[in-house]
Amino acid sequence: MIKILDDVNKIELINKQDKPVCWSLYDRKYSKDNMFRLKGLILPLSNTCKSAWIRCTSSTAGNETKRQKLIILGTGWGSYSVLKSIDKKLFDVVVVSPRNHFLFTPLLCSTTVGTLEFRSIIEPIRNSGFRETEHFHLSYGTSIDFKNKLLRCESVLKPSLQYDLKYDKLVIGVGALSNTFGVPGVDKHAFFLKEVADARKIRNRILHNFELSVQPGIDDSESKRLLHTVIVGGGPTGIEFGAELYDFVKEDVSRLYRKKQHDVHVTLIESNQILGSFDDKLRKYAEKKIKERSRFELKQASVVEVKEDRVILGDGTHIPCGLVVWSTGVAPRQFVKGLEIPKNSRGQILTDKFLHVIGDKNDSVFAVGDCADIDDQPLPCTAQVCDYMYYTCIVPREPIFVLNDLVF
Ligand SMILES: Cc1cc2nc3c(=O)[nH]c(=O)nc-3n(C[C@H](O)[C@H](O)[C@H](O)COP(=O)(O)OP(=O)(O)OC[C@H]3O[C@@H](n4cnc5c(N)ncnc54)[C@H](O)[C@@H]3O)c2cc1C
Repeated sequence: MIKILDDVNKIELINKQDKPVCWSLYDRKYSKDNMFRLKGLILPLSNTCKSAWIRCTSSTAGNETKRQKLIILGTGWGSYSVLKSIDKKLFDVVVVSPRNHFLFTPLLCSTTVGTLEFRSIIEPIRNSGFRETEHFHLSYGTSIDFKNKLLRCESVLKPSLQYDLKYDKLVIGVGALSNTFGVPGVDKHAFFLKEVADARKIRNRILHNFELSVQPGIDDSESKRLLHTVIVGGGPTGIEFGAELYDFVKEDVSRLYRKKQHDVHVTLIESNQILGSFDDKLRKYAEKKIKERSRFELKQASVVEVKEDRVILGDGTHIPCGLVVWSTGVAPRQFVKGLEIPKNSRGQILTDKFLHVIGDKNDSVFAVGDCADIDDQPLPCTAQVCDYMYYTCIVPREPIFVLNDLVF
């Protein structure tokens, strides 16, 4: 008995000299016309076939040389959506990213206070079914030669290791950095909240501050400083982190550090209004909720400097604190800055409505997510936007957000 697999598109019976032989199936002559009906069947070999050899060729094996090489840069919301939705039979999919996992960012804030564990919000990228082991590169993309369709890479593990990868199609989904607006001391003293490593650092600092605050030799004012957290930026991430911290103080600190619970203080600083991109009703509701919370202060001000133990405001006020979490929007990564292609005023790569990078004359490069913007159709930098792109990749509904050349 021989099982003919579904992806077989050629079945031949050959003799030992590698010459085709005639054979019968259920006493019917085998022909190309009925081959499709054979796929997936278990074939009983007739007497006449017993001495023959069967050669089956699968469609994928047959097309190996025809498959295009698609390189995906990044393992975030945008790139992962493409990776999950792409038909891997049609492309050799290669991923290049300094991160070997997909991160479910909406739950990142919960890991800073231990509500969730880090491993619960990540998905290892090697679980994505790569055709070859070497189809994932733990490397940065450093530049693109658009003319010759080459991506320059630099290994994360050995920076002196730099190499080129040739692509037929390239998807750029490198995301963005936290915007520091060039405020002095932010890079050195503030904590960002974009990656698991950032959340881990915040968690360690919170624990460090609480433990130190109860040690002998730490006076009241130092203890209050340690337990004062300043959040800079009233966007969704800043507000969400504040909410997590509030729950942590209410549920855990009151039990674990009972004597210190009244020293805990959170100040959220926003130069404009909180949740600026949200509906007015929602914004007012969030504002009301925050103001109801004791020891949680909302401050409208601009931070002009961050020091190791304080933030300094535009009016000269010094706010002593033990932790500064900085979340004031996004800025382009060095990789994006270095690409000589049209960008918008915020430094994002401009694409057409099919996500083709404007300026790529070969029409082979696409850009998705926070690093990109559709010309004349700006979209917010959210995971939902990336996810919508993913949906329309599979089920194209409108002529927007579709990686047109990659959809079949
Ligand atoms: C704490 C937090 C909470 C959030 N909550 C929500 C929410 O509730 N709802 C929502 O819609 N959005 C939310 N967002 C926003 C959302 O996460 C982003 O809009 C989304 O991650 C953008 O996806 P992206 O693929 O563009 O970038 P990212 O997800 O940031 O991924 C970028 C990828 O590119 C890789 N990379 C970086 N440099 C290079 C390079 N040179 N070469 C190759 N790869 C590179 C990175 O390692 C990463 O894998 C949140 C963001 C944060 C930080």
